[in-house]
Amino acid sequence: MALTIVGGGLAGSEAAWQAAQRGIDVVLFEMRPQKTTGAHRTDRLGELICSNSLGSNLPDRASGLLKHELRRLGSLLISCADASSLPAGGALAVDRDKFSECIEEKITSHPRIRLIREEMVRLPDPPAIIATGPLTSPDFSKAIRTYTGEGHLYFYDAIAPIIEADSINMDIAYRANRYNHGTTGEGDYLNCPFDETRYYAFRQALLEAKKIPLKSFETDIYSGVDAGDAHYFRGCQPIEVIAEQGEKSLAFGPMRPVGLTDPKTGRWPFAVVQLRQDNLMGNLYNLVGFQTNLLFSEQQRIFRMIPGLENAKFERYGQMHRNSFIASPNLIDESLAFKKDPGLFIAGQIAGIEGYAGNIASGLLAGINAARFIHGQMPMVLPVTTMTGAIIHYITHSSMKDFQPMKAIFGLLPKLEGPERHTKRERYKLYAERAMNDLDEYLNEPLRLTNDVT
Ligand SMILES: Cc1cc2nc3c(=O)[nH]c(=O)nc-3n(C[C@H](O)[C@H](O)[C@H](O)COP(=O)(O)OP(=O)(O)OC[C@H]3O[C@@H](n4cnc5c(N)ncnc54)[C@H](O)[C@@H]3O)c2cc1C
Repeated sequence: MALTIVGGGLAGSEAAWQAAQRGIDVVLFEMRPQKTTGAHRTDRLGELICSNSLGSNLPDRASGLLKHELRRLGSLLISCADASSLPAGGALAVDRDKFSECIEEKITSHPRIRLIREEMVRLPDPPAIIATGPLTSPDFSKAIRTYTGEGHLYFYDAIAPIIEADSINMDIAYRANRYNHGTTGEGDYLNCPFDETRYYAFRQALLEAKKIPLKSFETDIYSGVDAGDAHYFRGCQPIEVIAEQGEKSLAFGPMRPVGLTDPKTGRWPFAVVQLRQDNLMGNLYNLVGFQTNLLFSEQQRIFRMIPGLENAKFERYGQMHRNSFIASPNLIDESLAFKKDPGLFIAGQIAGIEGYAGNIASGLLAGINAARFIHGQMPMVLPVTTMTGAIIHYITHSSMKDFQPMKAIFGLLPKLEGPERHTKRERYKLYAERAMNDLDEYLNEPLRLTNDVT
């Protein structure tokens, strides 16, 4: 019995690999290049559409712990990320082209996976996995909405601009990692320092800047939703929206200067814009945390006010897009299958997960569980003390009232036993140790291995 997977992004590609590795024939549908999402730029599987960083790689950080678990669980995409990684302090940043090339090569050369470049417009027959992401095509969105009977929730998301490296004025910008974390040489990030006067002038310019109106295709599939009522993706708010939240919201947010000593003054500046290497050649840098929906002409004018970027050349401007997800707590169980149909699974951002690594994790579990379903085995439900298990538990058990996509955070894990006498850093270390021990114990139970990898 073949497994149908719709969507060859982060979750769908990982799911296809996991199921195929367990002896299942997989038919993977990806609509690009026949039809685009509006944010993807290539036809590659597993394309990263915004930041090129998969977040922390440190074992005692929430996102880093998630990656360690994924390595232990044999994730294809994390192995491709490791193989295409770039210097980024304690973070796992990748050359986005090399990353997706690696995924595409592995998927297309797998004897059990057939890739079909076609848009799916109706719900697939089970066994199947839906992994069409935040930019699910409008026709397929309608099919999902008809099936769930509850409609989508909705919100909007934005991507950050990319700058040509040789247009950055290195007499002003300086290299440094925050608190020198992971620094091997002179620092991986380029930092553009602001004094107080320039910071406030910059914020004022953002407040007065002209924005791009949302396009009708981003709103028309949701009856009764209009563009002025936009709900933003929490972890990826546009810079101009953050600027509106308070005089210092930028300086305490994406322009946080702490730990970034300017070698010219020996002090932390008033605020900083950080740039992170975006490709292996090192000729492109993205503005960290600078997702935006400003008019391109306004981006050019205002971002050139950043000290060191007076002559910046833009490889890509920031943009804002639709971003959809379903009411998971009402609809799916911990195996990621629909409650009303145990052979139909859902994974990735559309299931209510935020962040690249979390979406990869959900694809991994959906692929494993779809294979187990076909083999007639019990699903894999990881302990809630693991970061992977905790995220899945959150999207399947939280209240619908304020439900928003969730990323890896330590707050999702059950508290440690005993009195809280540790520092935050010590606690995180203990959470991480407990997670890896519990994961090992879970995987080492003899029953779990039955038929797991062929
Ligand atoms: C503009 C934007 C910026 C983002 N920035 C970040 C970021 O910086 N960091 C971060 O961690 N997360 C970011 N996200 C969230 C990000 O999308 C996810 O972390 C990740 O890409 C989701 O993985 P996925 O597999 O669910 O979806 P995707 O990776 O988007 O994969 C879904 C795939 O399904 C295909 N597809 C859609 N509909 C159909 C159909 N009907 N038939 C066939 N194929 C179809 C699409 O072409 C796509 O390839 C961003 C999202 C958006 C929209």
